[in-house]
Amino acid sequence: MRSRGGPLLLVVLTLASCRRVIVPQQKQPSGQVVPAATTAVIEPVASPPRSTNPEPVPDAAPSTCVRQSAQQFLIDAHLHDRALSDTKAYSEWVTRLQRSIRYRTEQYGYYSGFGSRAWNPRPLAHQMRVAKFAGLSVVLHERVIPALRCVEQVIERDCRETPYRPRSLGGARLTNTYFGGDVSNHVYGIALDIDPLDNPCCNCVEPWRSNPKCRGKKSDWERMAMPKCWVSAFEQYGFYWLGHDELKDTMHFEFLGDPSKGALTPAH
Ligand SMILES: [Zn+2]
Repeated sequence: MRSRGGPLLLVVLTLASCRRVIVPQQKQPSGQVVPAATTAVIEPVASPPRSTNPEPVPDAAPSTCVRQSAQQFLIDAHLHDRALSDTKAYSEWVTRLQRSIRYRTEQYGYYSGFGSRAWNPRPLAHQMRVAKFAGLSVVLHERVIPALRCVEQVIERDCRETPYRPRSLGGARLTNTYFGGDVSNHVYGIALDIDPLDNPCCNCVEPWRSNPKCRGKKSDWERMAMPKCWVSAFEQYGFYWLGHDELKDTMHFEFLGDPSKGALTPAH
């Protein structure tokens, strides 16, 4: 882990893997509409994180894939070195973080201790579903699963020259793995990890940074197994990749787009 001075160093050191920082967003054409994928399936949560949603879950009905970029104000709310450099920068980051927490609460649900239940009384756990992606099951928030379906469609169409088959996926988590005031997007069910051992986080805390793939001078792409084409597919539909980040968390995608675009389920 890079050396960071000041009283906030502990905050950085205690961040778990899959933390992220700001990076220039890769611009994608927006507003382009393409047919939705039909391969991913939404199912009720078999073993939900906290409780089962009693509401019926729509099948993978026809939806719309709308290209979009990750929203910059959500990217800007990531904790980074600059926010830890002085009190003023930290205060500005806290303001950005509060906006981000409010947005995520309003869009996805309330996580205890962060923001206000009044912004969205619907529990997060009631909105988690099992999605199929690349032949594997993963629990995610129902509002981002349509975008994931669109990603899979692009992968199947555009990534045949660089075949890749994940062995494990990680999605929603019950508890927050961040310290310092932020909330992991895994808690909101909008983050997805793909093959953590094969796509390491070389600047995260141990044991992640000890991954053999992180040794030696290599490009980001040489350190990971997932093809670049996959990253491009995710970024076309509002997912932000932390491989660009200074932490090099190459396993991690998080949906920072607008879930109302091409969403299968309406906003609550
Ligand atoms: Zn992650």
